[in-house]
Amino acid sequence: MKRLLSMFLLITSVFSVNAATLVKAKADMTAKVISGTVDGKPFQSAMTDLNGTFILDGDWFGEPKDTSYVLELTLPESYTAIAESDRAEKTKYGYKFTLKHAKYGMMLGISDKWQVRTEKFNGVELAVYFSKENMQYADTYFDRIKELMNMYSDMFGKYPYGRFAVADVPYPIGHAHVSLTFISDRIVAMPFMTKTSLGHELLHQWLGVSVETDRNGNWAEGLTTYLADRLYEKQEGKDVQYRKAAIIDIMQNARQKEDGSC
Ligand SMILES: [Zn+2]
Repeated sequence: MKRLLSMFLLITSVFSVNAATLVKAKADMTAKVISGTVDGKPFQSAMTDLNGTFILDGDWFGEPKDTSYVLELTLPESYTAIAESDRAEKTKYGYKFTLKHAKYGMMLGISDKWQVRTEKFNGVELAVYFSKENMQYADTYFDRIKELMNMYSDMFGKYPYGRFAVADVPYPIGHAHVSLTFISDRIVAMPFMTKTSLGHELLHQWLGVSVETDRNGNWAEGLTTYLADRLYEKQEGKDVQYRKAAIIDIMQNARQKEDGSC
């Protein structure tokens, strides 16, 4: 009976591993095209070149149909790739990414600028994908991520993914995606990044990414700002000033109708 049960568990675990959608892709950096198969069906997509960096939204291999993906990416040796994932492995041909709880496909970034550093922290892989010039800030980023991951894990429970990665990109952005955040390569060195913005994007992994908002307002942005930007000021005894500045900001930007509603 025990043997039958273990055979059953083995068979079901094999099937559950195979349940993820398998994307096999090859990036042609000269033609700026990525192509391959999704569970055996062919796809092809153009890539936009941002001076050696390519960022592809989650639906680059077609309309997402699953929450669980394996991506086997073939890539020239001189390029590095990052994708929304719980696990990222370097392979003979390029990279393999695995993701259990996708939000919308798998966002993918490819660059010939990135160097990669990783660290393991409480079972989560932390990673920075920085240009050579920005790599000197890696330790500051790792230290701050660890400090805040502890704080938010105490507040909200275990970090929801297997990885948390920060990648610099050659355009202005600061946005949280599943397991990663892209930030402008020009602001990596700025003190506000590690003081405030990094923690804000990390907290979005719990609020807004793993637990999504619906169409009726964006509670995640409000709560994240409250428990990141405002909280860090409070820790320095400056929460009153923060609140005053926030109210002035809202009043200056609010478009009020004559009846007082916005
Ligand atoms: Zn935000």
